[in-house]
Amino acid sequence: AKKRGRNQYYWFTQQFKTQADQHLKLANGLSHALAADELTLYYQPQIDIQSNKVYGVEALVRWNSAELGAVSPAVFIPIAEETGAILPIGAWVLRTAMKQAKKWTEEGFKDLVVSVNISAHQLIEPEFAHYVADFMQEYGLDARHLCLEITESAAISDLETSYKVCTELVELGVKLAIDDFGVGHSSLSMLNKFPFQFIKLDRSLVQDIATSSRDYAIIRTVIELSGHLGMQVVAEGVETREQAELLRTLNCPEAQGYLYGRPMPLEQITAYLRSHT
Ligand code: C2E
Ligand code: CA
Ligand code: CA
Ligand code: CA
Repeated sequence: AKKRGRNQYYWFTQQFKTQADQHLKLANGLSHALAADELTLYYQPQIDIQSNKVYGVEALVRWNSAELGAVSPAVFIPIAEETGAILPIGAWVLRTAMKQAKKWTEEGFKDLVVSVNISAHQLIEPEFAHYVADFMQEYGLDARHLCLEITESAAISDLETSYKVCTELVELGVKLAIDDFGVGHSSLSMLNKFPFQFIKLDRSLVQDIATSSRDYAIIRTVIELSGHLGMQVVAEGVETREQAELLRTLNCPEAQGYLYGRPMPLEQITAYLRSHT
């Protein structure tokens, strides 16, 4: 028994060491990912369920590391948040998406809304709304083309500052979405206090809409509630026709997911916009 215990301990420390090494490699790589030009933006279409036309796109960052290969944002964004690299990376994402939004509006996509994910660290910067205003002026972008996606935990980390920043953003004419709604903390008080225009229903709820009567009931209720609050629901992670059909019958206005299109590089999303607007 003693021997086995030692083996387990050995296995555990090795595993831990590998994870710590990996973490360090990722943190190091991230610190020069921007300078090395390793980041790009992909865009995923967002669809008006009733008309089946595109109303917007969500920008999703991709990291192709020379050393580590392609790394998922689900892995590297949390590390960038820990190390602080999220601030320059987040600013780059915002600028790149806003510049592209301006190009698209000039190409004639007059009502397109480009959504950008914002981390807690960005949202609790007291000057954040001023940066956004500066970028809009620099690129000549009208605020109605920009939506910022915020998770509840981001806002909760410093309620006072994030509330102030969100209010300033809305005064500028920027739209706000609460992301990953329906998972994590209880979200109702946030909906009541913060000036969101969009509620993004988390994929984990949407994926079971056809098989779980509980998830169906929750989605129906959130859609009803959103109407009373003057907000619009975007269903995330729609993968099947059956899910889309149920959402349509519930009068869910918008959807996003592999059924309509995966996140894609610039050329491809631009072609998609041309054929779906
Ligand atoms: P998110 O904001 O909830 O983005 C939605 C994620 O779901 C994306 O993963 C997208 O590719 C994926 N997805 C969309 N439709 C479907 C579907 O039908 N089925 C399935 N299985 N997945 C679908 P991705 O691109 O890997 O991004 C993961 C997360 O990383 C994002 O979750 C977001 O929290 C974060 N992230 C990505 N880009 C940025 C960024 O520029 N800034 C910040 N702060 N976070 C980002
Ligand atoms: Ca998002
Ligand atoms: Ca989400
Ligand atoms: Ca998510």
